Amino acid sequence: MNQTIRRSNYRKRASKRRRQRFLHRLPLILMILLLLVLLSVFCWMLGRHFLGKDSPPPLHHDSSPATSVDTGEPPTEILISTEEETTPDASVDVLLADADLIAAGYDYDRAIELLQTSEYYGSDQRIQDAVDRYEQIKTTLKPCDISQITHVFFHTLVMDESKAFDGDEDEKGYNQVMTTKDEFLKILDSMYQRGYVLVRLHDMAELAAGEDGTMKMTRKTILLPEGKKAFVMSQDDVCYYDYMTGDGFATRMVVGEDGKPTCQMLMDDGSTQTGAFDLVPILEEYIQEHPDFSYKGARAVIAFTGYQGILGYRTALSYSDSPTYQQDREAAAAVAQCLRDNGWELASHSWGHRDLGKISWDHFKADCDKWENEVKSLIGPTDIILFPFGADVADWHPYQNDNERYRYLKSLGFSYFCNVDSSQYWVQVGSDFLRQGRRNLDGFRMWKDIEAGSDTSSRKLDDLFRAEDVFSSNRPTPVLWE
Ligand SMILES: [Zn+2]
Repeated sequence: MNQTIRRSNYRKRASKRRRQRFLHRLPLILMILLLLVLLSVFCWMLGRHFLGKDSPPPLHHDSSPATSVDTGEPPTEILISTEEETTPDASVDVLLADADLIAAGYDYDRAIELLQTSEYYGSDQRIQDAVDRYEQIKTTLKPCDISQITHVFFHTLVMDESKAFDGDEDEKGYNQVMTTKDEFLKILDSMYQRGYVLVRLHDMAELAAGEDGTMKMTRKTILLPEGKKAFVMSQDDVCYYDYMTGDGFATRMVVGEDGKPTCQMLMDDGSTQTGAFDLVPILEEYIQEHPDFSYKGARAVIAFTGYQGILGYRTALSYSDSPTYQQDREAAAAVAQCLRDNGWELASHSWGHRDLGKISWDHFKADCDKWENEVKSLIGPTDIILFPFGADVADWHPYQNDNERYRYLKSLGFSYFCNVDSSQYWVQVGSDFLRQGRRNLDGFRMWKDIEAGSDTSSRKLDDLFRAEDVFSSNRPTPVLWE
């Protein structure tokens, strides 16, 4: 019993001592806890700051202008803005805008695929609504008649009319076969208003293995909304020849800062400016503003001769003594690749701008081989040839295999052949080739329409635009062909 009491007393005394000791140390314990909390909050913020910026901490103060330390921005502000950019709502907005842009170019399947493979598919009703909308539009699309696709072409566009039409010896040629920047823009507007949609030659038909295994040119299906009309565009002689210097044209094509092809032009003050100084960058800008003018990202066909070089670079063999020869070839090849990457199709226009139907067989072969060596070596393989002067290697009958010029061109890989024809459309899909007539939308053709007046049978451009509304008042008239 005594033992029990003593033990109990001892326990009470010990417990009291422990309580007193604890109360005595409480302020110190609280201080340590507070410090631990502060330290963990600091570590958490530091970690969030660096991880949130997705970059390692700065190694040197002087080499890290992008860190918050150097910009003076508090890290919390960066955290908030980063989080705002990646909220699901904002991401869905971006996704829907991307899909709408693809659908504007009539690629509804790709727009639907983009939405259905998104991580937000199924969690946001707006995505399903967009898919339903595209599916509905798809049921209303109509296939284009490939035989009724028109093809229009241009040469280098006149940027400065006062220099091109200045009375010098080249004026007459420019007035006949060239189109000015303002005329081109008016033509684009008119064709856009009338529902024209740019397609590629390769959208019309392509070589595909037939049942017997041989390659056959096979018509493809182009689906467009009611009222839209497919057309092909091309530009010849995109070489910026020496004779054009000082006459108001671009000087070369370059890769722009945005990765898209653009042009350079020598200005009056001796400076070189970069900008929309020819068809390629002008059309790029136009399609940027009117995405429904281009079918699935289609651009025009760009054709090159080789006797001086391509795209404003003197890449012909005759310039091999130039100190910048290699550099020029590399630059031209880079621009050609940039054109391809942006949807442009590249083509041969012969090496020496020759009438390939009339020159001698030896001359014909030599010209083809020079083009292979000096141009194809830069731009890569192409299957399109746009005949100079529109001069074909046969009459309007389908190519036959006993036509040795056709056979030779075919052996070099060409399957798309374009002549010049002022009818609204001329398309011939043969067993292993596609032929198409092209319409010149230049000073001469426009003047012919203007001369025809109300005689509609002689007017050839009314389905595209009214020549009177487009023809520049700065052109010398009449525009004669002699
Ligand atoms: Zn030409």
